[in-house]
Amino acid sequence: MSSALETLRHDFGGDIIEPGDAAYEAASRTVLVGGTPAQVLRPTNLHDVQAAVRFAAAAGIPLAVRGGGHSFAGLGTNDDGVVIDLSLLADIQIVDKEQHLVRIGGGATWGQVATALAPHGLAISSGDTKSVGVGGLTLSGGIGWKVRKYGLALDQLVAAEVVLADGNVVRASADENPELFWAIRGGGGNVGIVTAFEFAAHQTRDVYFGKIAFPATEASAVLQGWADYVRTAPEELTTIANFANPFAGGPNAPIEIHLTFDGDDAELAAAAIDPIRALGTVIADDVALQPYAVTLVDGMIPPPGIQLVTRSAFVDKESVAEVIRILAEVGTSEGTPIMAVRSVGGAVARVADDATAYAHRQAELMFATTIIGPPPAIEAARPGLDAVWARLAPHVNGAYSNFLATATDEDVAAVYPMPTYERLAAIKRQYDPSNLFVGNHNVRPA
Ligand SMILES: Cc1cc2nc3c(=O)[nH]c(=O)nc-3n(C[C@H](O)[C@H](O)[C@H](O)COP(=O)(O)OP(=O)(O)OC[C@H]3O[C@@H](n4cnc5c(N)ncnc54)[C@H](O)[C@@H]3O)c2cc1C
Repeated sequence: MSSALETLRHDFGGDIIEPGDAAYEAASRTVLVGGTPAQVLRPTNLHDVQAAVRFAAAAGIPLAVRGGGHSFAGLGTNDDGVVIDLSLLADIQIVDKEQHLVRIGGGATWGQVATALAPHGLAISSGDTKSVGVGGLTLSGGIGWKVRKYGLALDQLVAAEVVLADGNVVRASADENPELFWAIRGGGGNVGIVTAFEFAAHQTRDVYFGKIAFPATEASAVLQGWADYVRTAPEELTTIANFANPFAGGPNAPIEIHLTFDGDDAELAAAAIDPIRALGTVIADDVALQPYAVTLVDGMIPPPGIQLVTRSAFVDKESVAEVIRILAEVGTSEGTPIMAVRSVGGAVARVADDATAYAHRQAELMFATTIIGPPPAIEAARPGLDAVWARLAPHVNGAYSNFLATATDEDVAAVYPMPTYERLAAIKRQYDPSNLFVGNHNVRPA
């Protein structure tokens, strides 16, 4: 046994799972991707995380950190390296009732958070799925059901407890290690492991939630009308346009506008939502008042062998019409990817581009295309997908790292505009000069 492993066995109180152990097969894979790590370490407390980080540094093998394990690129596992799986660090405490301050373990999921906060009438705008991790989603953005009113998940973060590459623990906030705080709000897991997040939650009432569907034949008019309307719609309204779902007819699938209106006032909700209903021939409408926690869905877990290839980009105001035209045309043609177009803006755009390491604040839309299937089907669909992206390229910019199935240098350049990348690289040099935290959209130390 190597001396690093010997030290780990002495210092570490959590699970050490290795090939041959009964738990290994499940522990080695993430929700979407398989892996063959040499060890999966499940810390039970802060001290364990420090010991695990020191082990990975001493052993000199690749490190992956796993929060909720939902990365499309499979960043929460690796081959022959060590995985630090934070899932046992899932404590959720309200630390200040008046300020609505909530402390959340680095391995909690958003479903756990929504359930824990609901009895207190509190919520944090996060994402749309229960099993997605607080860690990955927050560190790279967090575009959720209340994004236009409360901003990204990372905009609600007020402080974090971070284990650095040398195993030391620091607190990051606007007043303590502010550069580190800047970097964790958008820089993914590049600069350390967040063992606890402190968020300012907001008071929540029930929300209007559901979908309004239109026939695929009306795609162009409905999508253009939707994009025009959400530009000036009340910020209580957050919407996602989903279409070309292969499980609902592919090119003939209905155009679905999924929405949340943040509030329980029927008149205000109708005033905000009715213009969506007027966009075309409504063929389904299940919008109803529900508790916010209920709006988060169980994530779809594809069976082993089924791959998801997801790619994303942002759209600024002047390009919205052209991008919607292309997406509507592609979405209603054969061999189409799944389309999900999210309206952003609102509170996100009121934060300066350089205030956090998430820089794509002025975009009106963020959209993702996904192809799904066994590897031969993915390969067959890839040329068509590349052709779509070649058409879109002149009209879109950047990429949302939380919706990327790859983590190439090209992806990293799309995620981080140059000034953001350079600032992150300087912070990386200070906090992680040997690039221990490499399992992410990786920024190399300057
Ligand atoms: C079904 C589904 C629905 C989704 N819905 C939304 C949505 O509504 N809105 C949205 O914005 N995104 C959404 N996403 C994307 C999601 O935000 C990303 O997949 C995100 O990376 C998942 O975080 P995770 O912790 O579950 O993933 P992981 O795979 O565990 O981690 C992702 C990355 O974050 C790092 N990381 C995770 N936790 C920590 C931590 N505590 N400290 C340091 N590094 C950490 C990992 O090392 C890795 O690089 C969705 C994804 C899926 C699969």
